[in-house]
Amino acid sequence: MATPEPKLRGPASVVETACPLDCPDACSLAVTVQHGKVIQIDGSHKNPVTEGYICAKVRKFGERVYGPDRLLYPAVRKGRKGEGKFKRVPWGEALELIVDRFERAKRDAGATSILPYSYGGSNGLLTQDNLDATLWRRFGTSRLARTVCAAPTGVANATLYGKMPSVVYQDYPEAKLIVLWGVNPSASGIHLIPFVREAQKRGATLVVIDPRSTALARSADLHLPVKPGTDVVVALAIHRYLFTNGYADEAFLREHTSGVDQLRARAEPWTVATAADVAGVDPATLERIAELYAKSSPALVRCGWGLERNRNGGNAAMAVLALPAVGGKFGVRGGGYSMSNSASWNIERPWIGTPEPDTRIVNMNHLGRALIEYDDPPINVLFVYNCNPAATVPDQTRVLRGLAREDLFTVVFEQVMTDTALYADVVLPNTTFLEGYDFAKAYGPINLDLGRPVIDAVGEARSNADVFGELCARLGLLNEDEPSGELDLMLHVLDHLPGAIGSDLRAGALPSPPFGIAPIQFVDVFPNTPDRKVNLFSAALDASAPIGLYRFQPDPATDRYPLALISPSSERTISSTLGELPRPDVKLLMNPDDAGERGLTDGDLVRMFNELGEVHCTVNVAPTIRRGTVSLPKGIWRRSTRNNTSGTALVSDALTDLGGGACFNDARVQVTSLATA
Ligand code: SF4
Repeated sequence: MATPEPKLRGPASVVETACPLDCPDACSLAVTVQHGKVIQIDGSHKNPVTEGYICAKVRKFGERVYGPDRLLYPAVRKGRKGEGKFKRVPWGEALELIVDRFERAKRDAGATSILPYSYGGSNGLLTQDNLDATLWRRFGTSRLARTVCAAPTGVANATLYGKMPSVVYQDYPEAKLIVLWGVNPSASGIHLIPFVREAQKRGATLVVIDPRSTALARSADLHLPVKPGTDVVVALAIHRYLFTNGYADEAFLREHTSGVDQLRARAEPWTVATAADVAGVDPATLERIAELYAKSSPALVRCGWGLERNRNGGNAAMAVLALPAVGGKFGVRGGGYSMSNSASWNIERPWIGTPEPDTRIVNMNHLGRALIEYDDPPINVLFVYNCNPAATVPDQTRVLRGLAREDLFTVVFEQVMTDTALYADVVLPNTTFLEGYDFAKAYGPINLDLGRPVIDAVGEARSNADVFGELCARLGLLNEDEPSGELDLMLHVLDHLPGAIGSDLRAGALPSPPFGIAPIQFVDVFPNTPDRKVNLFSAALDASAPIGLYRFQPDPATDRYPLALISPSSERTISSTLGELPRPDVKLLMNPDDAGERGLTDGDLVRMFNELGEVHCTVNVAPTIRRGTVSLPKGIWRRSTRNNTSGTALVSDALTDLGGGACFNDARVQVTSLATA
């Protein structure tokens, strides 16, 4: 699709907005616009945490807005599914076609034969769970369990602490010990780095737990390169160390927790030696970390999302998040735990006027299986927005087979021609955050801002609110007094935000969070659990996890597929957003010992495969990853590899022990030279 001519609008001006993309930081932005076109994106100083600088990814966001992949008008398929051949149609015709197919699906097999499919592509309060939710709820479609990310950590945090607000970036410099566990803020959440560096300058000890030796790990005092999937036993060994060496805070445990005896019993088998053996790490380093944790205050653990993406992910998050309760690390600034603060605003979305119906729930990680196997009823209509499942969810081969079904009617509402949009029957062009309103809610710092349009919609792109409002109206699902478009909806949401949040945002100010911008755990904020205690053990979760709480399921490696494939965040994409931009060859990171065993040298073309699929790419041989583990960046699109397949083709759709999450890091693979293959 051709890039449209910019509209003449006069001299350059700088417009303030905020970044709502799926990143913890929610930067305030200063966007330079000339002749109606974005010419530069910088940080603004409005947000004191993000302080005037932004990531390189969003600096390049204009390349998405005006790039060759941008969807500019609605279109219907005219070639085979996957070919990407479309014919332009007017908006009215595209929407009428969708309405017709919705009604037909409801008549023929019931509304649950329609599956809405979305994730946090834009992540703001307007672009997700708003008029889209109204549409799906009132029409009675299948529901989606949005568990591709943060589900196991979410369950653990909710169980233990009821999603209590956690330590914010600004308080990291107060800590004497910082443990960054399964997270690499240099790639995702860059504004944490200066606070970590400030803490180090003041004498804090930095520990990084990550299978890779990232730049941050190399600058840490201690690095524990655990085998993927073994974080739970490492955390249990630290618990055991605390319990057996008299460092457990018994008074805190008595007063503020329940279930400590069960946790103590489950940690008991995990001596430092046993855990180190299973995790493939140096026992002396693990013991030193346990000792440092026991003796330091304030001590802070940042629980990332890397540790949840495996069969033991929920238990790993439980064990890691339970550490400050056992070690008595709360009650001081800079002490406790740090993870998603998205629940800190107490925003319940009262503007979604209809409760969730009791319809079928489809786990989003089972998309391929659902499209091919579900028959009660089968999925006949798929409506994808805010995500790109053909590239990002497990079991890619089966997902593509499902998307290729001729009897499936697929709508993709997107900003650019994604891997998924290539399979659509109808594509609808979506505005980017630079073309509309949205509420950017940080989940690292506690910050909320209103993003404003800085340019007109490009081409015929429309916002989520406008399109879902129009679909609701055409289907007769909207009452006359309900907002049906973006501006109306933005004002409506402002009116319904709790306290003074709405009026502050209207005035262009940053609102004050309910517990302040930097609450201290167990001083300013307490668990939101029903008994206000830390629930270290839940009988219900124990029963639902495959082998119980705080248990370890062994590594799925086999002789045929001995290497663990991980897919951490990269400096190039935000999840898969921006994956369409040209990039140098995607490389598989491999340890020199593993490469040597396979006769591979740096830059070789390799075939990585298992029983589910294969990926062809070049190999980067470097000691920055532990032996036995290989790494391909998260969020790459199919076009990024030599055989048009991303790493998710090697990931099964097995679910995590808690929360129904994706086990991305349980992919076990073999790698050979492509020439040999
Ligand atoms: S993606 Fe994150 S770091 Fe980049 S501009 Fe958005 S909020 Fe800031």
